[in-house]
Order: sequence, then C-alpha cells, then structure tokens
Amino acid sequence: MIKVTTLTLAIKQESHYCFAYHSPPKALGEGLWLVKTTSIQPVRIVFTRQISDNTPFSKQHWPVNMTHDLYIDDADSLQQLCATLAQGDWVALDTEFLREKTYRAQLCLVQLGNADVIACVDPLAIDDLSALYALLSNPKVTKVLHAASQDLEIFYQAMGSVPAPVFDTQIAASLLGYGDQIGYGKLVELVCDTQLDKSQSRTDWTRRPLREQQISYAADDVRYLRDVYHQLKAELERLQRSHWLQDDFEALVQASKYEPDPDNAWRRVRQHQRLRGVQLMALKLLASWREHKAVSKDRPRKWIASDDLLLDLSRTLPATCTDMESLRSADAGFIKHQGQHIIQLIAQAKATPSEQWPQLKRTAPLGPAQDAMVDYLWAAAKLKASQNQITLSNLTNRKELEKLIGGDDQVAVLKSWRYTLLGADLLAILNGEKRLNWRDNTLELETL
Ligand SMILES: [Zn+2]
Repeated sequence: MIKVTTLTLAIKQESHYCFAYHSPPKALGEGLWLVKTTSIQPVRIVFTRQISDNTPFSKQHWPVNMTHDLYIDDADSLQQLCATLAQGDWVALDTEFLREKTYRAQLCLVQLGNADVIACVDPLAIDDLSALYALLSNPKVTKVLHAASQDLEIFYQAMGSVPAPVFDTQIAASLLGYGDQIGYGKLVELVCDTQLDKSQSRTDWTRRPLREQQISYAADDVRYLRDVYHQLKAELERLQRSHWLQDDFEALVQASKYEPDPDNAWRRVRQHQRLRGVQLMALKLLASWREHKAVSKDRPRKWIASDDLLLDLSRTLPATCTDMESLRSADAGFIKHQGQHIIQLIAQAKATPSEQWPQLKRTAPLGPAQDAMVDYLWAAAKLKASQNQITLSNLTNRKELEKLIGGDDQVAVLKSWRYTLLGADLLAILNGEKRLNWRDNTLELETL
C-alpha cells in the first residue's frame, strides 16, 4: 500500500481523486507528481504526470478533462490552496452567506481564484480557517471583490480584522464610466460579453452537499471577476487613474466602518425623516436599544422590533403599556416582555433637554443668485467630465451642487478622486481663485 503524505490541491472528481504531492510512491521516483487515483488510501493510480518541482502548480498541469473547480472541505487542502494563492499578488474573492436568522451573517461558502485555480471553500466543513484568514490579511496579496463592503463586513466579524488590501471592481467601474453601483452580472456582460446563469441567486447555501450547479454558479462569481479585474486595471493604468482609487479602497478596509453603531442606528430606520423634535430623540434611544439587543442576541434587528414599531412608538410616545396596546405594530408578546423598558426609554427621551435632540439636516431652498451659481458650477463640472472622458453623473449631479452651495461640505464631490478631479476646482471657483473663461469657442478653467 502506498502512503501519501503531502497532498496539494486535492480535488474529488466523480469517483477519482486528483492531487499533486512531494512524497511520491517509490515507483514514481523523485519530484513533484500529479496523480489521479480512484481512492486516497490506498492509492490506486490511474494517471500520473511528472511536473517540475519549482514551477508553481497550476491548472495547465491537469489532464484536459480535469478542469473542474476545486471544492475544498478540509483544513489541509485549504492550507495548500492558500499557500499557492499567496504566491500571486492578487486573488479574486467572493462569499455566499446567510443572514436571515442572525445579526452577523453566517458564512456558507468562500470562492477564491487566481489565473490558474478556482476554488470553493466550505467553511461549514472546516473548523480551522486560519490559513484562509492569513491569506486575506496578507499585505502582499490584493483581494479583488465586486461591491466589497458586505463581504468585508462578514470577514471582519469572523476574523476580527478587515481583509486588506482590496480592489473593488464596482468602484473601479464607476471611475471608468460604466455607471454607478453597477451589478456584477451587468459588468461581466459588458467586459466579458458573457451572460451569467442567474438560476441559483436565491439558492440555499447552507445545504450540503451543494449541487454541482450551485458550485459552478458560485465559482462563476470569481471566474469572470478575474478578467474584469485585469481589464479595469489596464483601463485605469492607461488613463493614469489607478492612484485615484487608493482613498476609496483604504476607506473600505477601515474597521470602524463595520462596527455596530448604536448611536447612529436611528438614521437607518426607514422614514425617520417624518419625525420631529422629541420624537427623534425617542427614536434614537429606541434604535440604539434595538441595535445593542440584536448584537448581543445575534438576531436580525427586525426580530427585536420592526422599523414600523420603532416609528410608531416614537410618533405616539406612549406613557404606559396600555397606551402601547393601541399600536397595530406592537403585539402582546412585545408589550409583555419589552413594554416596561420601552416606556422608560420614552420617558428618558421626554426628559432629555431639547439641545440634545438629534437634528435632521434640512437644506433651505436656494435663492436666485445661488441657483445661478449652481448653473455655473454645473458648467465647470461638464467641462471637467468631457476633458477627462468620464460620465458626468459619475462625477457629480445638480442636487449635490445645490447642497454644496447650501454649505454642505460632506458631499461626495469633495472626497477622494472626485475631489481631485472636480471638487478642488469647484472650491477654487467659490473662493474666487478660478473662473470659467470662454475664448475662441473654447471653454477653459482659468486660474486667477
Ligand atoms: Zn457570490
């Protein structure tokens, strides 16, 4: 019987196992071998091929019919995979998760890919994911994701740190005129001219074993991401825009972005804009209470209390549990278990001095002079957009310029690459340092 000691990238393919290893059976001699067998212990070899010891192991080494994506469900294979992926300077990354019954998402599958390998890692089957976390934290390996924040939040909750560095193809696409917040499927269609299978988008990722179709659907999420990444990266480099993205990408990996924020939870309650004064104060306390409770019990917010209920409580400010009974959104169980505490929170809101009530920013309507100035800035924005071959709507919009004129300095055009490209010039115009100059049918931005 042959004992195999070091497995590299073991995959199951129908009734066969395929792997490479450094400790070959004597019959094969020294070196790194790729082996296809009908079982691992004992090894019944049906195919062997010697591959050079110092070439990084890659898909090209597999026989033609062995193009299956890897399915990794043990810690050793995961370690081998991550060691291989850590040799590159980037890795495509995506996750499938479930968040219906918990506050923190439950990680169900992690898809990884480089130029040679696509792998679906099963976190439900592997207790020790430290090799994966080490790869995700490796500063030499850029993690390529599409619309990264949700995936990053999940890893932050699991690892205690945010994977870094990252490259978000959705953000990169917005800089190249593909439109804001473009979906992965749409971007793949535009860049790779491929229609993705959408049939599994509502699939149950906790089920085991996953069906072949589920795995290939999940693998597609990184398969095309690789080409999208290369294409966008090349376009950014050609336009010398790569460095513009650094601020956006660094903002994405700030841990504070993924920390629960009970103090500001009220801002995320739907239709909170309808409340005024002490009602907003009550909402702030109630939303904060709900957030703490959801985190400590690891349950979805809406299981603790719905947005509608928080809104009704803040609007009507009940003083007793009996008052609460008239609210359609408050069921008997909620009043029984939480009623007393809710009443206290509402009393606390009423006792809070008005200076401490949260304020909603409301922009006053603009006067005629301010309105004309918005037009002037709008003309400058159009000029910069056309000079830089970027979609105007990706750069700014009239609403934002109205806010800017109204004194809001938190607008996107004053941040990151939009600031570099346009925001700095808008401020210079407002400060009287630059102006638009029309000469010989050409519009220019002139420094005074
Ligand atoms: Zn996915």
